[in-house]
Amino acid sequence: QRITVAIDGPSGSGKSSVSKEAARRLNAAYLDTGAMYRAVTWHALDAGTDLADAAAVTAAVKAAELFISTDPDVERITIHGTDVTEAIREPFVSAAVSAVATNLQARAELVARQRAIINEHERIVAEGRDITTVVAPDADARILLTASEEARLRRRGLQLGGTQSAAELEAQVLARDAKDSTVVNFQVAADGVVTVDSSELDFEQTVATVLEAIKA
Ligand code: C5P
Repeated sequence: QRITVAIDGPSGSGKSSVSKEAARRLNAAYLDTGAMYRAVTWHALDAGTDLADAAAVTAAVKAAELFISTDPDVERITIHGTDVTEAIREPFVSAAVSAVATNLQARAELVARQRAIINEHERIVAEGRDITTVVAPDADARILLTASEEARLRRRGLQLGGTQSAAELEAQVLARDAKDSTVVNFQVAADGVVTVDSSELDFEQTVATVLEAIKA
């Protein structure tokens, strides 16, 4: 039976690990749209594209040969044949990604590709910032996964291995979400979107709550 699940949320809401686990349990594919924004950002930086030049960024995104694994057990993304699975998690990519995310033409291109990937799959869980509202507003289940600022930063710190100071991290994550919020709304649930607040839930409880919301 076909099913499309859309999950949005801010940085550090646990969105990726929760969405991936939900996909496994639903025997569905998994699409990390943030990885696509990160990969095109990595490539633009690598190619020396001026990120302030919107037309150049748009051209680079349109020309991007992008492959992303949709197997929840295989994390792999390549751009122009280069495996950037690890590289896109580097802080310099996080710091630059909003330049692509706030470029409306670049977004339109990535949204079209994301829709195509979703349509190729009978069963898929797609996660990002605009999946419930723009990419797949007709999804069978639409969830906004939130967490208090405190819980989010705590998790981000763990994820980054505690190499950065808490203050630096806090400033970076908040600045990125603030920039992204100017073009996509992932702070407030749109009509028909179920909010799951994970602040007081552990991983297993969050997955269970999301799966319940999908069945409902
Ligand atoms: O989810 P993740 O933190 O990897 O996303 C990286 C960046 O990609 C976000 O900060 C945002 O700028 C952008 N993004 C987006 N729309 C999406 C997914 C990610 O703008 N659907």
